[in-house]
Amino acid sequence: MVQNVAKTSFIALENIGKSYLQPNGQTISIIENINCQLQVGEIIALLGPSGSGKSTLMRMIAGLIPPSSGKVLYYNRPLVGLNPGVAIVFQNFALYPWLTVLENVELGLKAKGEPKDTRLQKALRMIDVIGLDGFENAYPKELSGGMRQRVGFARALAVEPELLCMDEPFSALDVLTAENLRFELLDLWLERRIPTKSILIVTHGIEEAVTLADRVIVLGRNPGRIRADLPIALPHYRDRKSPEFQALVDQVYKILTNPDLPDAPSQTTTTTSTLEPKVSSQPKYQSLPHVRIGSMAGLLELLEGRQEKDLYRLAQELLLEVDDLLPIVDASKLMELVTVTEGDIQLSSLGEKFINCNIDERKAIVRDLLQQNIRLVQQIFQLLQAKRNHRISEELVLDILENYFTSKEAQRQLRTAMDWGRYAELFSYDEPSGEIFIEETTSETEDLE
Ligand code: ADP
Repeated sequence: MVQNVAKTSFIALENIGKSYLQPNGQTISIIENINCQLQVGEIIALLGPSGSGKSTLMRMIAGLIPPSSGKVLYYNRPLVGLNPGVAIVFQNFALYPWLTVLENVELGLKAKGEPKDTRLQKALRMIDVIGLDGFENAYPKELSGGMRQRVGFARALAVEPELLCMDEPFSALDVLTAENLRFELLDLWLERRIPTKSILIVTHGIEEAVTLADRVIVLGRNPGRIRADLPIALPHYRDRKSPEFQALVDQVYKILTNPDLPDAPSQTTTTTSTLEPKVSSQPKYQSLPHVRIGSMAGLLELLEGRQEKDLYRLAQELLLEVDDLLPIVDASKLMELVTVTEGDIQLSSLGEKFINCNIDERKAIVRDLLQQNIRLVQQIFQLLQAKRNHRISEELVLDILENYFTSKEAQRQLRTAMDWGRYAELFSYDEPSGEIFIEETTSETEDLE
């Protein structure tokens, strides 16, 4: 590929799983069955929706947290503690405000036990390479976001890591600064001005992944798992308008918008050629995308009479990030208001009907759809029906959800189901008592008034 280095694997993930013990004593699996190898000379993008375990996986590779099952191998040996070959650039820069640029950059070297004089020399060199010359004695608060992230890069690169890990490094920056920094980093990598052997970038941006990476690993969630491992063979610098680039972006869109596609065959550290495609590990519980019915209605209205059905181009046209658009698409799909085939989105007949209805009719459609398609809403409704006073505690629902989701995610799932159920006037929620109840008592009271 770009760097003339033979492809050898130096980090391998073998059957990695990660689970967390919940406050209720349940163990929740957030990542399962991850097998892959990181090769020398490649930029790898870990791409997936939020909550698919990208950061967790990166942290396990860095040795910041151990896997619950399986092994991270570093030069074929199981990793114990911090990975000595890894440095990380964080999304929020993670600089010490009371230290100067130089002192911040020196920090990693200091932690590695680098002697004082070579430490200074290496830090100054990296400050120069990263374009921070003249800012050595500035404090982070005196710098713009882009310059702060340069400090983040310089600090990580000064230790000459074999693997540079970056966790959404450009997402806190404005669009132009992010674009500039992305290309400067690529320059440094392609011109081999940084000693790094490989780069792993965590991102939720499809274009960012296809622009930078030689390989895109697409993760799915619930549980986090590898859905695809795609080589990106286009030469740098890539033309985002070229048909080849757009075809790759489309391909990734198709994978992300089609959870029913089988996952990638598992790549093991021994051999890949004899493997049968892995049976898709289906999510264990239907997971609700966290969007409002109003957003779905907005999408449906936009689709009416529109020629452009391609999701990627639609997102571009609407200036929407994939992370903003996909949950709305997923939710509309769950509700059968749209169909998505091969990356093209289309209103379903119900979707057509929905947009031509008044608000009460829309509520009635959503009520039917929720009862037919949304498991959590069905469960809540059944629990409410089973109680004579038609009231249940939210704790009961959370207990069920915490068998499948972390407590934070369980809360979000419940909130989304409540939002949808309230819109459809299926049930309501009493904030102070944390009780969910069927609306009829309220409407009866209103009728009497
Ligand atoms: P991503 O980076 O793809 O957004 P994360 O790796 O941050 O995903 O998280 C994946 C899932 O693991 C999320 O549901 C998150 O809530 C959960 N998770 C992450 N860290 C912890 C933790 N320390 N305890 C419990 N759950 C966690």
